[in-house]
Amino acid sequence: VIRIEGLHKCYGAQEILKGIDLTVQRGEVVVILGPSGSGKSTLLRCVNRLEEATSGHIWFEDTEITDPSTKINKVREHVGMVFQSFNLFPHLTAKKNVMLAQEHVLKRPKEEAERVALEQLERVGLRERADYKPGQLSGGQQQRVAIARALAMDPHVMLFDEATSALDPELVRDVLDVMRSLASEGMTMMVVTHEMKFARDVADRVIFMDGGVIVEQGTPEDVFEHPQSDRTKDFLGHIA
Ligand code: ATP
Ligand code: MG
Repeated sequence: VIRIEGLHKCYGAQEILKGIDLTVQRGEVVVILGPSGSGKSTLLRCVNRLEEATSGHIWFEDTEITDPSTKINKVREHVGMVFQSFNLFPHLTAKKNVMLAQEHVLKRPKEEAERVALEQLERVGLRERADYKPGQLSGGQQQRVAIARALAMDPHVMLFDEATSALDPELVRDVLDVMRSLASEGMTMMVVTHEMKFARDVADRVIFMDGGVIVEQGTPEDVFEHPQSDRTKDFLGHIA
């Protein structure tokens, strides 16, 4: 579904991504680990062109994202992204937040957008909170609304960038549970996280990045039980 070849990204003179090659298959859950500043967010942001690649190519299905003539908004309709911050509209209810892009980007009629919004809120366990505003919801609930909002667009791929990092520990589990159930439904996912248990349980493949390159990748068992590189061992040693 996603193919990345020779991806480089520079900010000014600083090279952040130094040649990333990565293919994500349909239904695969790829978890990306790595120290702060290793380029994990930059990589995800290149995938939906929130950042322009400096060189290299990225394909999403049959479309080359890195081709300047590609209509990126068409691609983004199929690529859901969930960040650390939820970016909900504070003055709108959960339901309205989930309806908005459906109506404005997909041009769905209001009734359909509303029906889909309620379905997706149900899917993340928040059907009964549909008429609450973000300020009346916990951080974990707000993040689940953000996930419902992404799912309402019928994404082919979901990108998660530290979706649980801003949450209090007791709220993390509900969000991870939603991500787990998406994975088990066969959603293709690229997930940047520091949740090692999630990575072990859910990932089909774990990627370890450091210094703008993929240092090591494999099954969770490969990477967690038999890390090859000293940098991976060092990193896992620090969090374990
Ligand atoms: P973290 O775990 O802290 O989120 P990360 O692996 O996601 O780290 P990135 O956010 O991809 O790391 O950042 C990689 C490097 O790129 C960092 O050194 C950062 O300072 C730099 N960087 C990121 N965005 C920009 C920008 N817009 N302009 C200049 N430098 C940037
Ligand atoms: Mg980051």
